[in-house]
Amino acid sequence: MGLIESAKTEGRAPAAARIASVLLPLPLPEAFDYAEPAGMGLAEGDLVAAPLGPRLVCGVVAALRDGTGGNRPLRPIAARLDAPALPPSTLAFVTWAARYSADSAGQPLAIALRGLRGPAPRPQRLLRLTGKAPRKPTAARARVMAAAEGGPLTSAELARAAEVSSGVVGALLAEGVLEEELRTPTKTFAPPDLEQASPKLNPSQAAALAGLEDMIGAGGFAVALLDGVTGSGKTEVYLEALAHALRRDPEAQALVLLPEIALTQAVIARIAQRFGASPAEWHSGVAPAARRRVWEAAALGACRIVVGARSALFLPFKRLRLIVVDEEHDGSYKQEEGFIYQARDLAVARGRIEAAPVILASATPSLETLWNAGQGRYRWLRLARRHGGATMPKIELVDLRLTPPESGRWLAPPLVKSLRDTLAAGEQGLLFLNRRGYAPLVLCRACGERLRAPDSDSWLVEHRYAGRLVCHLTGFSMPRPERCPYCQAKDSLVAVGPGVERVEEEARQLFPAARICVFSSDTATSPEAARAIIEAMSAGEIDVLVATQAAAKGHDFPNLTLVGVVDADLGLRGGDLRAAERTFQLLAQVAGRAGRRAKPGRALLQTWIPDHPVMQALAAQDRDAFVAVELAERRAAGLPPFGRLAALIVSGPDQTALEAFVKRLAAAAPNAEGIDVFGPADAPFALVRGRRRKRFLVRADRGVDLQGFLAAWRARVRAPASIRLTIDVDPYSFL
Ligand code: ADP
Repeated sequence: MGLIESAKTEGRAPAAARIASVLLPLPLPEAFDYAEPAGMGLAEGDLVAAPLGPRLVCGVVAALRDGTGGNRPLRPIAARLDAPALPPSTLAFVTWAARYSADSAGQPLAIALRGLRGPAPRPQRLLRLTGKAPRKPTAARARVMAAAEGGPLTSAELARAAEVSSGVVGALLAEGVLEEELRTPTKTFAPPDLEQASPKLNPSQAAALAGLEDMIGAGGFAVALLDGVTGSGKTEVYLEALAHALRRDPEAQALVLLPEIALTQAVIARIAQRFGASPAEWHSGVAPAARRRVWEAAALGACRIVVGARSALFLPFKRLRLIVVDEEHDGSYKQEEGFIYQARDLAVARGRIEAAPVILASATPSLETLWNAGQGRYRWLRLARRHGGATMPKIELVDLRLTPPESGRWLAPPLVKSLRDTLAAGEQGLLFLNRRGYAPLVLCRACGERLRAPDSDSWLVEHRYAGRLVCHLTGFSMPRPERCPYCQAKDSLVAVGPGVERVEEEARQLFPAARICVFSSDTATSPEAARAIIEAMSAGEIDVLVATQAAAKGHDFPNLTLVGVVDADLGLRGGDLRAAERTFQLLAQVAGRAGRRAKPGRALLQTWIPDHPVMQALAAQDRDAFVAVELAERRAAGLPPFGRLAALIVSGPDQTALEAFVKRLAAAAPNAEGIDVFGPADAPFALVRGRRRKRFLVRADRGVDLQGFLAAWRARVRAPASIRLTIDVDPYSFL
């Protein structure tokens, strides 16, 4: 509060009073006006503390204009924060992202300012020699002095290096043999060595790199799709392109986006090896103080490469000159809560705003990206085959109608035989099932009820290791009951269908001597735990990995030659817009895990619908045919990328109030050409955490201002406090 007082007294004689329009990182409809205290000398982008009600909040100066605010005096800004200003392009990006997502600018601003929440790096107390000799020289003291000769260290470091107690160091300090020096940890990251020798690229990689260098050399915004099967050397190529961009401009910065923390670790290690220095790292697993360091370094131009998850896109880069989006098709780029956005799409927007090129890399690009590439909007650079002559795995369909598994089992005879042969050859297998837990459904044999979560519309999944029933929608869980909660019958509950734990159980019965391990978010609960499993698999300490999609991407297991997909049809059952696309991408990625090195690999896909276009395309390894069919269907229906979608999700605790509001909302929909509004309808999950849910779906022709329509619609109705209205532009989830 002292800050506010001093600001007030300073503002006595406003020579040319100015009004600062301050954007706050809160879901507010607009920026707030404040008076600039005289002498503060604000500029656009400055970070300030401003009063909001009784509190002070951190915000960013979005605009400055002359004036005093008329007869109602404006509250003054309390202080300018000791942090680098937000660059104009970052502010422009935040504003653009808000409009695109039909949300208030405060929401993306909150993400952009997240790095400031961490404490500023504290100065460290370092000890150095003064040159004075100790009064009583002892062996321990001599060791401390020898250790201090190498340069200043903290007291703890000195004691450790000299193998003495902290008392010995303290005594030397008291005597004046050592003195203290305060040093603030540097904000600078070690620069990459761009001249380090790079691997020799194969001709296909060299051609792709030439295309990227050409794009980067042209300057300005452009997008390239780097399209090549897993193992074709895409990462190697984009790291070369990144080196090229950084060499061209000594201040340039580059951002590499990855869909998952586990993958960021692998890429960080490769960058550290390739350029002799670790890049800055940005994701939810990074501690707040370290995040603040990255944030400030990005704004000051003191780090040249940032590797991060989707929110790294909101860092305040001083001079962003290249963005790479790896695994660009990955659904994790869609942020579904809070500020809803698609990081790949926003990366392209940020590239445009920064006038920087963007590289999208994938083995199975999204239909949107393929369509843009096909239209010539993006450069399309294809890597033909795997680097070093490794062959693609052979993909075979196991027709479950002809060779079903035994009753109560999930592995069909052809898969069991292949796994047996693989293990006999001393090679590894991966059994893939994208379902956590033991069984997706628990049924009472006595009354027929299915067990569901008490406050949500979803079935409870049995997790046998944990002995619990879990709701995968909300995380609710309870111990597995002995009696049916509906009819009280004892021992009547049966597990229906398989999850990874059940497949593991079956594999153990079939191959008692094999070392079998489950890899899912339940067993790999942290990045370290995930890495431990990956390392054990790479080192050959695991024979069969039973895994969910946690293992589908990025990892390279040299001795893995068989991939068995337990239920290839699983992803198709939801039937939403991207079900076929997602299934194709996921299964192609999983199959790509087999035989990455010299050993040829096989993938067996168990399916009840071998004639489905997705299965046929996978077996024929004909992505282009699948894409052509899928695009034709989307075109006929006017769906993305040929039209655009948005969802309105309305929820509230009270059914009657919700229905009344939804009715008003439906009546308020503006009339607009080229836009269809469907709904309201009960959401597939009509009850979540005690809240009832309804949905509208909006379909717009391309070229129609969908965001303008959504903003106009929202402005026409005011929701009661108990009701939440969320707008999801380009929805990925339809639940
Ligand atoms: P992708 O990103 O397409 O999956 P990577 O870039 O990871 O492919 O390459 C696959 C493997 O081949 C990696 O182990 C990588 O180090 C190696 N590799 C790729 N290109 C080369 C090259 N030109 N020289 C040597 N090794 C390479």
